[in-house]
Amino acid sequence: MQSICILGSTGSIGVSTIDVVLRHPDKYQVFALTAHKNLGLLIEQAKLCRPEYIVVADKADYSSCKILCQAAGLSCHLLAGADALQQVASASGVSIVMAAIVGAAGLLPTLAAVNAGKKVLLANKEALVMSGELFIQAANQSKALLMPIDSEHNAIFQCLPHDFVYGDLASSGISKILLTGSGGPFRSTPITELNKVTPTQACAHPNWDMGRKISVDSATMMNKGLEFIEARWLFGLQSQDIEVVLHPQSIIHSMVQYCDGSVLAQLGNPDMRTPIAHALAYPQRIESGVAPLDFMQLANFSFCQPDMLRYPNLKLAIDASNAGQSATTMLNAANEVAVEAFLQEKIQFTQIADINDRCLQVMTSRPLDSIDAVVALDQEARGRSHLIIEQLILQGQGRNYA
Ligand code: NAD
Ligand code: MG
Repeated sequence: MQSICILGSTGSIGVSTIDVVLRHPDKYQVFALTAHKNLGLLIEQAKLCRPEYIVVADKADYSSCKILCQAAGLSCHLLAGADALQQVASASGVSIVMAAIVGAAGLLPTLAAVNAGKKVLLANKEALVMSGELFIQAANQSKALLMPIDSEHNAIFQCLPHDFVYGDLASSGISKILLTGSGGPFRSTPITELNKVTPTQACAHPNWDMGRKISVDSATMMNKGLEFIEARWLFGLQSQDIEVVLHPQSIIHSMVQYCDGSVLAQLGNPDMRTPIAHALAYPQRIESGVAPLDFMQLANFSFCQPDMLRYPNLKLAIDASNAGQSATTMLNAANEVAVEAFLQEKIQFTQIADINDRCLQVMTSRPLDSIDAVVALDQEARGRSHLIIEQLILQGQGRNYA
């Protein structure tokens, strides 16, 4: 029986994780559930999963959550605050941690799990993008097992040989990693109309049902940019080892090309329960609840190159990845602030990339030799991004849709 801590249990990945875990009560028990604001769902999940701990990220929510726990007859321990997230992620009773908090808020709890040598199921790509080398060093030191949850990285992991050595594509005869992406909901919207799209339209992804931040990132393709950086750190890749390929159907989740002409791909319906089940049970396989792929029903597969004029955020992320760690830390922070401003209808969709670009231009790189330095740079970039947005709004250049 393995004990799981689910960081971000109320999110899209958290809900899918619980769905898979509850299908296998003989294999997994839930040690802790954590959430930010959706307390009602957290309590419902606790009733089903019977965890030892539940954690609310904001201390101000402790009392109201306590009342909800009592009303639901829950006897689990209730903790609150950022430190408590780290506490449950590194607790001795836990063997698996699902890192599914969105954004930079997930960095410290995810790292706590890594430092404690857990099996870490990494959905929270922003944590790795922010802290790259330090994160991988920490995992090497603690012998934590990092399992990719992002469907693309999980697919690459499945297509790599079992004896793959970090960063050494040549010894395994690998010529290229093909990172696929759907292109999001605006793949064929005229570029001149992108400034008018709304948060609701941006969050309506054609194939995946996800949280709002990653949905907007998918529409701008910043998500693929973050995944490009994530893939470099997870597998030790150089920029030229990765090719981004648009595949609007989201059935192939990524591919590995070998020097003999073979291409191995991982396919499946677009449902995150597949990579979650794979990572949970690895090296075994368990049922996930995902419908099998029906090849007779599949429409034609298509592939094309991403247009960097349509997706300037993808180019920004690849350039930042080549520039180094501080550029990716700043870009991630700027982007989180800009996406939130877009979701709050303060700026236009196309301004997300402008803000990210300006933020990178006005800030200077610096060596990041500790997590404190990463967090400080993240905060500074957030401040810059906020200032740029305020200026845009003051100049009357904010959102322009009704
Ligand atoms: P979501 O917005 O649906 O859920 C986020 C979770 O994080 C919620 O439980 C929320 O309560 C919690 N949270 C938010 N702010 C927090 C804070 N300040 N402190 C503590 N907890 C906080 O997001 P999601 O779509 O589930 O994505 C989660 C992560 O997984 C992201 O990093 C995303 O990039 C990654 N991911 C998601 C998908 C997907 O299909 N949804 C696919 C691949 C990767
Ligand atoms: Mg992905």
